[in-house]
Amino acid sequence: MTAVASGSAPTAGVLALQGGVAEHARMLEGLGAEVVLVRRERDLVGPEGARLDAIVLPGGESSTQDRLLRLLDLGEPLRAAIEGGMPVLGTCAGLILLAREVLDPAPGQRSLGLLDVAVRRNAFGAQLVSAEAEFAVEAAGVEGLGEGGAVRGALIRAPEIASLGPGARTIVAHDGHVLGATAADPAAAGEPGRPARLGRVTGISFHPELSGDPAFHRALLAHTR
Ligand code: GLN
Repeated sequence: MTAVASGSAPTAGVLALQGGVAEHARMLEGLGAEVVLVRRERDLVGPEGARLDAIVLPGGESSTQDRLLRLLDLGEPLRAAIEGGMPVLGTCAGLILLAREVLDPAPGQRSLGLLDVAVRRNAFGAQLVSAEAEFAVEAAGVEGLGEGGAVRGALIRAPEIASLGPGARTIVAHDGHVLGATAADPAAAGEPGRPARLGRVTGISFHPELSGDPAFHRALLAHTR
């Protein structure tokens, strides 16, 4: 995909059907992006082609977001845009939307199948763990990580990554749970024994936007340069 940005601010979308949209928009704007709230196909693709350089799929309720995506005929164009190379960051429900497989879907729930992981929803119970923590990130290409390579975020009815296929790599493991993965991009594999670079498709279980930690959003925008 050709980047829309021409040396100026990148244009970043936030899927805005349901869930925690405003916090992501604020974070991306804070990093200098033009933000488009994505509700229709025309928010993704205009008469002149792709409108977005990158997109965030926010948290919320993945089964509701999935239903709305299909109701609004937005799921297929979104999948095509990401498959075509548009970098994406999914948080929580957004990770579930990206997953190849949802192990315990709501009745009829589907996912976009863009990240080679199987996820388990509400892996920490209904509202049991809604806590802020530091999540150690094992990936190159994420600037501004805190002490020990950590990103601060909140877990809210969070999913876990139950298994990864060959197309994905673990980037966050926390207390015995895999909470972040990125597409294993052979072009960005890094050196042997070093962590993989963050791929164009990344999903995390936690919410850095609620903790005000911009490292993942900055890494997303770095793909547009
Ligand atoms: N439990 C939600 C789901 O299944 C995700 C929660 C979140 O996005 N904070 O979609």
